[in-house]
This record gives sequence, structure tokens and C-alpha cells, in this order.
Amino acid sequence: MAVVALVALAMPTAMSAAPVVERPKLVVGLVVDQMRWDYLYYYQSMWGQDGLQRLLDEGYSWQNMMIPYVPTVTAAGHTCVYTGSVPALHGIAGNNFLKDGKVISSCDDPDVSGVGSDGKAGHASPVNLLATTIGDELKMATDHQSRVYGVAIKDRASILPAGHSANAAYWWDKSVGHFISSSYYMTDLPGWVKDFNTKHHTEPGFDLNTSNEGVTMTFDMARAIVENEGLGNDDITDLLAVSISSTDAVAHTYSTRGTENREVFQRLDTELAKFLRFLDSKVGRGNYVLFLTADHGGAHNPNQLRSVKQPAGGWDSKRARAEMNELVKEKTGVDKAVKHIMDYRIYLNHHALDSAGISAELVKSIVLDYLAGCKEVAWAVDPASPTVATLPQPIAERVVNGFNRQRSGDLMYGTVPGYLAFAVKSDYKGTNHGAWNPYDSHIPFIMMGWGVTHGESNAPVRMTDIAPTICSLLHIQMPNACVGTSLLP
Ligand SMILES: [Zn+2]
Repeated sequence: MAVVALVALAMPTAMSAAPVVERPKLVVGLVVDQMRWDYLYYYQSMWGQDGLQRLLDEGYSWQNMMIPYVPTVTAAGHTCVYTGSVPALHGIAGNNFLKDGKVISSCDDPDVSGVGSDGKAGHASPVNLLATTIGDELKMATDHQSRVYGVAIKDRASILPAGHSANAAYWWDKSVGHFISSSYYMTDLPGWVKDFNTKHHTEPGFDLNTSNEGVTMTFDMARAIVENEGLGNDDITDLLAVSISSTDAVAHTYSTRGTENREVFQRLDTELAKFLRFLDSKVGRGNYVLFLTADHGGAHNPNQLRSVKQPAGGWDSKRARAEMNELVKEKTGVDKAVKHIMDYRIYLNHHALDSAGISAELVKSIVLDYLAGCKEVAWAVDPASPTVATLPQPIAERVVNGFNRQRSGDLMYGTVPGYLAFAVKSDYKGTNHGAWNPYDSHIPFIMMGWGVTHGESNAPVRMTDIAPTICSLLHIQMPNACVGTSLLP
């Protein structure tokens, strides 16, 4: 009775409305694949007024955001942005990693089938993701009244950001040349998606991912989702996770400089301007918040670096694996003991070692000795051993955060700065990413719109801070494996 009386006393006049949580109508996450932070300024003179420049003019930019784990690759990056967590905890240890003794791609799910295609591309879901996302928490906060969608050309760039409870994630199936989904989300594509696919498609087999058209296609689909699913049309906050994949494939092929990279970022700017104008008119300027970031950066091309006297090159990890295997065979009798080297991780063949009664520790020490003799390798470590603490602190932290005990294999290593982890021929024009170094781990983070005042900060912050920042803006719980901190005052 006392409680009731207290509540009655605290209530304002009978006619006033119940207090509501103030939130934007729509949250748009925009992850640009392989967008180095310095592109904001390297390309600034070509930005129009309404795209990236508008984000810089109206938004708040964190100028020193770093990725706090290795390897800095697409699946791990997209997951970190939306979970505020790291591979050790969210489980997405790379684009590919070990699960139940098999190397799988991050979104592989043999238990689901494609919707919109019968191909292999449809066997995908967030089944391998161990943590909740911003969208999952938003849904929990609104008793699942919020609507959450993901879209990208790459499956992992759509599925992992959208999370477990998403209404839908859409990605591109090259084999059919249109957007698809999977039976994890639905049994049939909505009518509007079928219509969209009739109007927007490519020849089967055409690689949209390496084309500027991939940028346009993704924004076209993002607008269609907002339009047809009515995102941001009421007071319950919705979330749209958009990822631009083509910027990554273009840099992998043509590197961080030159016409192709410039053109794909020009396209990004043009399409972003169009998208912002669309959101202004559809959802209303000030009614939505948009953030832009990247899943990782990218190194400059080693040949180009060398041409201006910078130390750079490659480490032939394929040859190294063959040499490691020779050495291990010589010392233990076990053939092909080093099974994979991928994204700066080394996986041993535990099955072969167990059958031969050879300890993994012995093989690890042989491999670490071998790596100590490679001048292109800066460090190598067993992340499960205390020796990880002997690494320089920023690297040790990234190794610990990036090492998932079930999925990351046995050893991690890093090349010396400027060196890629494969043989670089003299005519090689492309580039790669995945390392701890600033060129791969320094990313942009700009928020613009609802609740955001213009400004910038040079404080050192981390990719894991993005999710808790968005969640505190929305007054919702942070994701369940979040290790970051909100950047809001
Ligand atoms: Zn990527």
C-alpha cells in the first residue's frame, strides 16, 4: 500500500502523458570494407558536400580508433562493430576458422538452405556467432517491436552485423546474380525483394564484388529495405546494417592508390550523399542516427612502397609451411604436421600428432624456432602460453583478444612492418590486411544525426567502443560479450 501511495504522489497531473524513452526512429550502421581512416583526408578534395564531407561537417568523428585484436579481417571486424567484443569471446576468429575439427567460413551453416537460390551461397546464418549484437539488444529492449535488417554483397558483412534475431539479412549470390537470404530468416523472399531482383540483377557469374556497381547495388537495396519494410516510420527504433563490400575487393586487386581505388571511393561518396538525402526525406533529418566505420584498413602495395625507398615486401608463408613440415618430419617422423597458415594463424594437424603420440608442444617449439630464423617475421607466439606477455604490450593485447581457444589454431605471428604474409612478386599490384599494424587497424568512426553534436576527438579509442556507444545513445543494454566502453560523455 505504501508503494502505491508513493507512486501516486510522484505522478504528475492526471492529464500528462507517460514518459517515453527518447530514441531515434532509425539507426543506420555503415561499414565500409577496407576503408583506412586516412582515406577521409587523402580523398577529401574529391568529396562532394553531401556525402562523406557532410559526415565530417555535421557529425562527430573519433580520429584515433584502433582495432584491439588480430587478425584484422572482414568477419571479425563486422562482428566487433556490432557486438563490442573480440574473437576470443564472440567466436568469429577470422574469415575462416576451425570449428569441430573442420575449417569453415564464418557464416557456414549446413543446416539451412538458400532462399532465392539453390546454390551454396545460401547455406549461411549467424550460427557461429557466440555473442549478441546491437540489433539483438535493441529487439530485447523493445519486446521485439524493433525491426532489424542487414544488407551487403558479402554474406558475412550482412549476417554478422544483423545478429541472431534479425528480421532478415540479404547478401549477393554471384552464381545467380541477385540478392538472396536463407531459411534461417524466411521460407520465401518477400514480393518486393523478388521485384527488386527482377529489376536489379547481373549475369550469373559476374563478380559484382570487384565492381563499383556493387556499391550502387548495395545502396539501392538498402533504400528498398527502408522503403518496403517501413523502417523508421514509427517511434520504435529500427536498425539497418549496411556494409559496402566492393571497396575491399578493389583494393585487394589494385591497392590503396591509383585510379580504381579513387573511383570506388568516389562512388561511395556519391551513393552516400544520395542515401542521406533519401533518409532525410523518408525518415526525416534529425530522426535517424547514422554511423560510418570500417571492418579493417589495408596496407600499401609493397612494390609501390619500395619504389619510394620504404622497407616492404612479402613473407612466403606457403614455402614456409613446406619447410616447417620438412623440419617437423625430420625431428618427429610426422608428415604434414602444420596443416594451415591463414590470416597470421598457424594450425597444427592434431589428429596426425595424436595418432603418432607426438606432443603438440614439441611441434610448436620446432615451428617457433623456425619462425625465429625468418627475417620477415617480427614475432611469433603460442597465445595460450605465458610467453605472450613478452610481446610489446599493444601486440600482446591484440593476440590475447584475437585468440579463440577452440577456433584460432595453435600459434600466431606477425610480419615486420610493410611485409605481407605471402610471396610478393615484382608485378604484384594489389594489397592485403589482417595484421596488428596501424595501416590495418586504424579505422574511421563518425556518428551523425539524432543526439549527435558536431565535433571530433583525438583520444585513443577502440573498435569495441562502437557498440556500447550506440547502445548508450539508445538507452539499451550493451551486447552480452561487450568489452568496450561508451564514448558518450
Ligand atoms: Zn573486409
